[in-house]
Amino acid sequence: MISYDFEYYKPKSIQEATQLFQSLDNQGKNPIYFSGGTEVITLGRSNQIITEAVIDLKLIPECLVLKKEENTVTLGSAQSLTKIREMNIFPFLNKTIVEIADHVARNKITLGGNICANIIYREAILPLLLTESQVVIAGNTGLKQLPVNEIFNQNLQLERGEFLVQVITELREIEWPFISVKKRRQWDVGYPLITTAAIKKKGQIKLAFSGLCSFPFRNKQMEESINNQHLSKEARIDDAIQHIPAPVLDDVHGSAGYRKFVLKNTLVDVLDALEGERNV
Ligand SMILES: Cc1cc2nc3c(=O)[nH]c(=O)nc-3n(C[C@H](O)[C@H](O)[C@H](O)COP(=O)(O)OP(=O)(O)OC[C@H]3O[C@@H](n4cnc5c(N)ncnc54)[C@H](O)[C@@H]3O)c2cc1C
Repeated sequence: MISYDFEYYKPKSIQEATQLFQSLDNQGKNPIYFSGGTEVITLGRSNQIITEAVIDLKLIPECLVLKKEENTVTLGSAQSLTKIREMNIFPFLNKTIVEIADHVARNKITLGGNICANIIYREAILPLLLTESQVVIAGNTGLKQLPVNEIFNQNLQLERGEFLVQVITELREIEWPFISVKKRRQWDVGYPLITTAAIKKKGQIKLAFSGLCSFPFRNKQMEESINNQHLSKEARIDDAIQHIPAPVLDDVHGSAGYRKFVLKNTLVDVLDALEGERNV
């Protein structure tokens, strides 16, 4: 049970949502956006999220769009991971999504909720970083569309009152060979020890990780090392590991040393798969 009372709003338009946010914020109610609600409710129960008002985005039509057009696919932020997977047009994202939680939780968890989560893993962002996707963000001044690689730095860099409306990906980016490997401490549906996602685009391998550091990331120096054909496969991997951009996590799921060991083995699998160009 959540130990405090809060107001619940379900706006029907983007403008209504952002205006509501501003007005509730001006009243000191510390409003938060709410999409699938699984994290807001879980963290609300342990008082890690305290708010006097939640703004549910699930009635806003733009946040529910799921469409494939001539050149792009557009995914609404309030769509559940299950619905996006059922649409079956973004195999790389699907592979990552299907590894998040279990089927019942995925019916609730949304794309926007996962990308903007407080939890460190946020695995759905990995394929988006690698496919040069764009994000549509709503705020007081209207909508803006930006490359996810520009606006995602450890977190989606949202201004106060802004929310994620959609993700847009070019169809040609979806077609590159990919691999997504989630290693857990145990075999079931747990949080990742490390998730490694990679694509091979025009002969170059691109890499993104979740669970390795305290935030998901893509790193160009690691990519340069892994693509350095002057070195042996093992030396490329060792060099890439030297460029991990932040301390490696050391927690109940695994020590930093164990994570690096698992990473090394996973990168061997990545190179085997992508240098043979097979999707895994
Ligand atoms: C059983 C279970 C297992 C899980 N396993 C995994 C896992 O393996 N990997 C993983 O990555 N995650 C995992 N998660 C975490 C889950 O993906 C996140 O908690 C996610 O936030 C839940 O999505 P939601 O739509 O319910 O988010 P909500 O609870 O609605 O929101 C979460 C946060 O995002 C903000 N937010 C929501 N929508 C938007 C938006 N459109 N724009 C801006 N901010 C927004 C909210 O204000 C809140 O701070 C698991 C969760 C559960 C319950």
